[in-house]
Amino acid sequence: MAEIQLEGITKRYPDGALAVKDVNLTIADGEFVILVGPSGCGKSTTLNMIAGLEDITEGTLRIGDQIVNDKAPKDRDIAMVFQSYALYPHMSVRDNMGFALRLAKIDKASIREKVEEAARILDLTEHLDRKPANLSGGQRQRVAMGRAIVRSPKAFLMDEPLSNLDAKLRVQMRTQISRLQQRLGTTTVYVTHDQTEAMTLGDRVVVMRGGLVQQVGTPQYLYEE
Ligand code: ADP
Ligand code: ADP
Repeated sequence: MAEIQLEGITKRYPDGALAVKDVNLTIADGEFVILVGPSGCGKSTTLNMIAGLEDITEGTLRIGDQIVNDKAPKDRDIAMVFQSYALYPHMSVRDNMGFALRLAKIDKASIREKVEEAARILDLTEHLDRKPANLSGGQRQRVAMGRAIVRSPKAFLMDEPLSNLDAKLRVQMRTQISRLQQRLGTTTVYVTHDQTEAMTLGDRVVVMRGGLVQQVGTPQYLYEE
């Protein structure tokens, strides 16, 4: 687990587009922060810079006590969950969830233990031997989260993880994500354009507009504004 600190973070794409402008934000260890705002306001770019998927043009990014501007994504010890959860179709849920651990040459017994623990937390125990094709959208999304949590990363980064689900499932998954985050206490940065999601999920909401941070506060505070 770790604090994430953005200091004067700016992103200019090669075509000249200024997507993120001087963002200053400290996300506490264990905090659940939502980045919300209209399409094109710079949410994904900000998240991708934290993940190391986009270069930072200016500013300093710290994860824990390290400056990570120049670190590759795999060396940042964070896990990303996207809206398009690309599961391996030929692998069982168990194997999908354990995949990264097998690559990391973790021993089989530990993998089994971590996968089964994650499956319990995510209500997937009965589905461990199924293939993704035989799961519902919500179950698949939970497998994608399971893949992230088995690695015990310092932080979770989620980019619109629920936007492919129908309205009913979205509400169920919101509850599950909250429970999961409270239980694991892992620092989480969650991107959404959905205001309801923003107001119900996080400890703190960061409202972005035109590449700038416009407002930061607890959902309660922003609601009363
Ligand atoms: P959001 O996630 O809030 O929808 P993005 O971070 O995707 O916003 O985009 C912020 C701005 O940066 C937008 O104006 C978008 O068009 C621009 N942008 C995003 N990705 C690129 C890219 N690869 N090259 C150039 N401009 C980009
Ligand atoms: P989101 O709003 O969820 O980030 P977008 O549809 O804006 O999704 O962007 C999808 C992809 O297109 C991203 O990889 C983003 O970097 C890229 N992209 C967005 N805007 C531009 C742009 N103006 N020029 C080039 N690539 C872009």
